[in-house]
Amino acid sequence: MLLTITNTNPPATDLGYLLHKNPARLQSFELSFGKAHVFYPKASEQECTAALLLDVDPVELVRNRRGPSGEGGMLEQYVNDRPYVASSFMSVAIARVFASALSGGSKHRPELVSTPLPLAAGIAVLPCRGGEDFLRRLFEPLGYQVVADRYPLDEKFPEWGEGPYYKVEIAKHVTLQELLTHLYVLIPVLDTNKHYWVGKDEVEKLLRHGEGWLQAHPEREAIVSRYLRGFRSLTREALARLTEDESVDPDAEQETKEEQEHAIEASLRLHDARLQQVVAELKAHGAKRVLDLGCGEGKLIRELLKDKQFEHVLGMDVSYRSLEVAAERLHLETMPPKQRERVQLIQGSLMYRDKRLEGFDAAAVVEVVEHLDEPRLAAFERVLFEFARPRIIVLTTPNFEYNVKFETLPAGQFRHRDHRFEWTRDQFQNWAGVMCERFGYTVEIKGAGEEDQKVGAPTQMGVFSR
Ligand code: SAH
Repeated sequence: MLLTITNTNPPATDLGYLLHKNPARLQSFELSFGKAHVFYPKASEQECTAALLLDVDPVELVRNRRGPSGEGGMLEQYVNDRPYVASSFMSVAIARVFASALSGGSKHRPELVSTPLPLAAGIAVLPCRGGEDFLRRLFEPLGYQVVADRYPLDEKFPEWGEGPYYKVEIAKHVTLQELLTHLYVLIPVLDTNKHYWVGKDEVEKLLRHGEGWLQAHPEREAIVSRYLRGFRSLTREALARLTEDESVDPDAEQETKEEQEHAIEASLRLHDARLQQVVAELKAHGAKRVLDLGCGEGKLIRELLKDKQFEHVLGMDVSYRSLEVAAERLHLETMPPKQRERVQLIQGSLMYRDKRLEGFDAAAVVEVVEHLDEPRLAAFERVLFEFARPRIIVLTTPNFEYNVKFETLPAGQFRHRDHRFEWTRDQFQNWAGVMCERFGYTVEIKGAGEEDQKVGAPTQMGVFSR
């Protein structure tokens, strides 16, 4: 099992300082499952390659019950691909042998630690469950050039087809720490087989190593779920924490949310009226591919799917549990295939730029902004108006002035305890105006729900277009 790392930035042998391994020496390390050796097949001014060779001892694996199938697999315990492929063993070796490089330290070249270098990593055999396509979807969004060569299952018997094994090279201008981190996380994600028990500390490890890149990765969900071997509660926790907004537990918040707010607004059947109005606006503007941002339990999605004009609806929410409820309420699992293709639910936060939100012609953001911390609203504004940038945006938020009309609501309070703010009509209009100026939209401000002469409608709605 061989991993090589090549630097072509002269003096290329600085790689030795970054890895804390002298290019002139062969070094060996004892690991619980075998040995790791570090050596440099090439070490010149122009090009320097460090190799990490892992010699996994299959007998040791069985003895420690770390092999596939534990005690039960008999022959498979001794005859398997583990000694020959890059897997979680490789990640462990990276963490042990290149510990300081992985955590971003260098005694002799501290300034190089944060300098992107032209680096390439070669993996002799990488099992890619999900194929080359998935391999590319993991590394390309991170900016890597990927070269993948698939091994035939057996050269003598081409009719057996191809196996899941690839020779892979990835290259990028990147810091060594980032490169090692990406390999550390993504090798076991491709292999999907971990040699050790996955517990809660794996969530911590993943979040630590995922800092700064995993949050915005388009394959975030697959990465988290595979890294945690599909354990749903761990996956849910990791995804929630990855996208959480400060200390809020989005699931807990969501549960009480609907009840509280609906109790207050109930007499007006405000929620339904609001959704109908949003649908009407989207329809009138000829929207076909629609985003429902902060889709909650999917009520708007259900309405949109009733109308054939809406060809595709993507619902996104930060709360994984809400999405599970939405999937259930929409009967996604039993939907006829054609209908099923029209709808997609994804977990994500509106605080982070997300490529999955691009290419839609409309977005609905219904009763969501008031849940975002005001200082962080700026991030949301760019995510929506600058990056997702749909032609039409229909955004609703409570009208604070109207709250005096709710008998059960004490004066000065918001409609829900998770609301971070509620805007007066002036405040909303000002904010909408600033958005238009900054991002090149025009807006039409409307109300939803029955309008009061003095305080206006219970819900404010901005229909932005460009
Ligand atoms: N639009 C839905 C739900 C509104 S409740 C409806 O009208 O019924 C607000 C929703 O925004 C919740 O589901 C909450 O989980 C979601 N939310 C809060 N912060 C978010 C964020 N940063 N990114 C995405 N969704 C968020």
